[in-house]
Amino acid sequence: MALKTGQCLCGAVSFRGDVDETAQACHCTQCQRWTGGGPLFAVRVRDLELTGEDHIRTYNHSDWGDRAVCETCGSTLYWKLTGRSVAFVALGLVDDQSDVTITEEIFVDYRPAWLSPFEGATQRTEAEMKAQLAAFLEKEKRHDQV
Ligand SMILES: [Zn+2]
Ligand SMILES: [Zn+2]
Repeated sequence: MALKTGQCLCGAVSFRGDVDETAQACHCTQCQRWTGGGPLFAVRVRDLELTGEDHIRTYNHSDWGDRAVCETCGSTLYWKLTGRSVAFVALGLVDDQSDVTITEEIFVDYRPAWLSPFEGATQRTEAEMKAQLAAFLEKEKRHDQV
């Protein structure tokens, strides 16, 4: 992890935080449409400080997730679980990506035929991701009841 900065295309939205060196590629069809082609590359950011939040528009694409864009330039900003804080930011916003490696690919059943897997990256299917999400939400629910 390293303290880094990033911003959208027009600069209305910017951030700083501790950015992981490992990043994820999501090949689901929603991400393909959202990014305009290819996967969504997302990186975990801790202690995220967002600037320009007035310019962020969120789109609730399912009953469990929100996608955020800059209302001015349309840049893909982040994806997050509904009602939770932002954990993953679009990798393309990060100013310095020199030490980042793609270590995980998800929804690989939807990866377009023209795109090869990243060497050494973990591969997870839609079924594996849905099971993982269900287990996570179930655990959270049990936690809330305590
Ligand atoms: Zn912008
Ligand atoms: Zn996706």
